[in-house]
Order: sequence, then structure tokens, then C-alpha cells
Amino acid sequence: MASGALLLIVDLAYLIAASAFILGIKRMSSPRTAKSGNFLAALGMLIAIVITLIHQDIVDYRLIGIGIFAGTVIGILSARLVAMTAMPQMVAIFNGFGGIASALVAASEYLRATGQADIPTLITLVLGTAIGALTFSGSMIAFGKLQGWVYQQPLTYPFQNVVNSLFGAGLIVLSVLFVVQPYEILFYIILTGLAFLLGILVVLPIGGADMPVVISLLNSFSGIAAAMTGFVLMNKVLIVSGSLVGAAGLILTQIMCKAMNRSLGNVMFGAFGKVEPMAAAGKGQKETYSNVKSATPEEAVLILDAATSVIMVPGYGLAVSRAQHSLKELADQLKTQGKTVKYAIHPVAGRMPGHMNVLLAEAEVPYDELVEMEQINPEFDRTDTVIVAGANDVTNPAARNEPGSPIYGMPILDVDKAKSVLVIKRSLSSGFAGIKNPLFESEKTMMLFGDAKGMIDQLTKELKNL
Ligand code: NDP
Repeated sequence: MASGALLLIVDLAYLIAASAFILGIKRMSSPRTAKSGNFLAALGMLIAIVITLIHQDIVDYRLIGIGIFAGTVIGILSARLVAMTAMPQMVAIFNGFGGIASALVAASEYLRATGQADIPTLITLVLGTAIGALTFSGSMIAFGKLQGWVYQQPLTYPFQNVVNSLFGAGLIVLSVLFVVQPYEILFYIILTGLAFLLGILVVLPIGGADMPVVISLLNSFSGIAAAMTGFVLMNKVLIVSGSLVGAAGLILTQIMCKAMNRSLGNVMFGAFGKVEPMAAAGKGQKETYSNVKSATPEEAVLILDAATSVIMVPGYGLAVSRAQHSLKELADQLKTQGKTVKYAIHPVAGRMPGHMNVLLAEAEVPYDELVEMEQINPEFDRTDTVIVAGANDVTNPAARNEPGSPIYGMPILDVDKAKSVLVIKRSLSSGFAGIKNPLFESEKTMMLFGDAKGMIDQLTKELKNL
């Protein structure tokens, strides 16, 4: 085929792939269309890979074949085996691998074309390397923190921001030196090392409830690194897909910050959670509470029987216990008894953005019963009973009432404003942020201690027996 015609086919295929990515992301914005959006984006990626493999001057497909096979096996196994609750860790690893891939491609281009690259290419090359390396090391620390392998609370020391700024300034200076003198491989090596170090130093002081923000920011960085590498290679589909990931990650970061009522600067440089040594020491431990009232399922159904309106508040514990189907069954039972039932969705409930939407969609809860935080909050004070199923931080009134609290200012679900609250969890242990939740000792609250699934099933059984 004439090379002009081949180039046209390649460009057309890249256009189709890029359109599939854009439409795919658009469809992922609603739970109703998310599955087909995911499929469309995956199809776009397949087209992009196949066309790139045909188009580039590849001399030997064997290594590529082995890479594709290994990647496919790892992808299928991790999608099937990794628990929903471990998704943030998996996303952190994916971001890190995206970053290191971009850095490695940029490095190989540097070694291949030393001296021939023009200034714009050198700038994108250095950006691809630095952002990619920083994304990799930062993501590995984020993974370690989420997995509990690295100290989870913010790790701080005096003049931390000054030290980080100095490293950042050093990275910029070396990048400029490298662009001016690209033959100096030492500049390239040191700037790559500095970027690795900066990734570690920037993520270490972040912890507690801020980790989702960091993960989505690193996701954005991995996209930007890929886009930069796309410029180095002049590969259009890599530029488009990298930019999409970069922009989508930034928008998600913005949404998460809004959900926590924090600025990005505050998340990155504020060492969130540092002020609560008590929380660090007590994470996962029992807090000190007084006047906690607990109830049996038999007692709790009497409260439910008297209610006409019920709001379900799912949280991370629901995912751990895989109780989504049980919750739906309880809701259905309440509805057959003439009560209105809604589900309140907090943007950072669970361990990944949209976690509760995914869980409840799996249980086939109708989408119109899922109500976002801003819409449901005004309804709590006219609601009879709230069932908090494995949620903790997202219901913590300290975020509203205690200026000294590490989560002060984070918007929460105002469940404490309802007439009565049933909290299902196994103990009085803290949630992800590692702090006490005064909701548990509120006058209106009854604790139902037990595994979420077992407890919800018992409630449904008792309701049916009434
Ligand atoms: P939390 O982490 O605050 O609390 C979950 C509660 O579930 C725990 O207190 C635990 O208490 C209980 N639990 C655990 N297992 C079970 C079980 N089998 N049955 C019943 N209860 C159980 O969850 P929330 O959803 O309220 O808040 C999410 C937190 O995670 C926020 O701080 C958020 O910032 C953070 N985060 C969110 C991410 C996101 O993108 N959504 C990502 C990473 C972090 P007990 O042990 O007593 O049972």
C-alpha cells in the first residue's frame, strides 16, 4: 500500500480511537451508561494498539507479543481477584506503572536521538521523564500507605515544605540545564533521581482521608506524562489519551477536594491529620465513648416498624461485608411495608470514587433511589430513621462541630439530624481517618454491633416476622 494511504488509514484509526475514549469517558459519568462507556474506551484502546503495532517500524514482534500476553494475564487476574475494597491500591499501582512507562519511553528516545532533538522535543522529553518518575515513586508510596506497608498517617518533620520546595527548584534548574546542554547525560540522570525523590517526599506527609485526592492527582500526572511522551514520539493518539487522563484526573481531584471542603494546596502541603496524634495512635483501635446505646435486631425492628421514612447510608464496611444485596433486600422489605426508602451517597464513602454507586448497582438498586449528598442532606431532619451500614467518617458530626478535628470542614451526611439513627458496625473502632465519631454516643443513636451482612439479614428476617 502507498505510504500516503497507510498514513491516512492510521490517522483515521487514531481519530476513531480518540473519539471512543471521549465518548467512553462521557458515558462513565452515569452508572446507567458506565458499563458501555468502559467497553467503548477499551475498544478504542484496542484499535490504538493494533494500528500502532502495524504502523511503526517494528523489526521483531516477539518481545511485544510476550509483553502483551503477560499484561493480559495480569490484567485479567487482577480484575477478577483483587477485592473491590483494594481498588485504590490497584489504581495507585496502575498510575505508577503508567508513569514509569512514560519515563522509560522518554529515556529510550533520549538515548536514541541524543543531539538531534530540537528544543520543544527536549522540553517534552524532560517533562515526560520528570513527571513520569515522580508519578511512579509517589504512587508506590501511596500504594504502600493504602496497603498498610508504609506508615499511614502523615509523616512530617520541621521545614518539610521548604525542603520539598528546594528539591522542586533543583529539579527545575536541572531540567533547564539539560535542555540547554542535552549531551550532559549526568544532568538527565540527576534530574530523574530528583523527580523520584520528590514523588516520595511529596506523598509521605499526606495521609488519612486525603489519600483519595492524592490518588486522583497522581492519575492525572500519569496522563500528563503520557501526553508529553506522545509529543516526543509524535504519536497523536498517545497525546490525546494522555491529555484525556490528565484532564479527567484533574477534574476528579477538584471534585474530591470540594467533597472534603479543602483546597488542593492544603491537601498537598497541609499534612492533613498531623494534628491528631490521638487519631494516629488510635487508628483501628477502640475509642473512648460514653453513654453508647446498643440494641439487638429484635429491638431495632421496632424502631423501623414505627418509621415511615428511612434513609440508608452505605459505607466502606458494607463493601467489606459484601452486604449490598442484603441491604437492597432490607430496603425492599421496608418498601413492602409502606415506607419510603432512599440511599444517601457520600462522594468519598468507601475506598474509591463512586464505590457505593458501583456496589449498589451490582445489587440492582434503582438509580433514582441513590441520592447525592447535597440533595439528601436537607431531608435528614424530616426523616424518621437512618440506617448507617458500615459507614463512619462520612457521618462524623465532628466535621461540622469541632474546629480542632482533622476532618473539620469536610462535608458530611447529616444523619445526626434524623429522628433516630441505627449504626451497623462490628465495634466502636474508628474509620479511615482514625478519629472518634460522636454520632455513636448521640442520644438518638442505637448501635447494632455485628458484621453488616449478618446484621442486615437479621433485621430483614425480624421485619418479616413482625
Ligand atoms: P470508614 O472507613 O470511615 O468506616 C468504615 C467502618 O466500617 C469502620 O469504622 C468499620 O468499623 C466498619 N466495618 C468494617 N468492616 C465491617 C463489616 N464487615 N461489617 C460492618 N462494619 C464494618 O468508611 P466511610 O465509608 O464512612 O468513609 C470512607 C473513608 O475512606 C473516608 O475517610 C474517605 O476519605 C476515605 N477514603 C475514601 C476513598 C474514596 O475514594 N472513596 C479512597 C480512600 C480513602 P468496625 O471495625 O467497628 O466494624
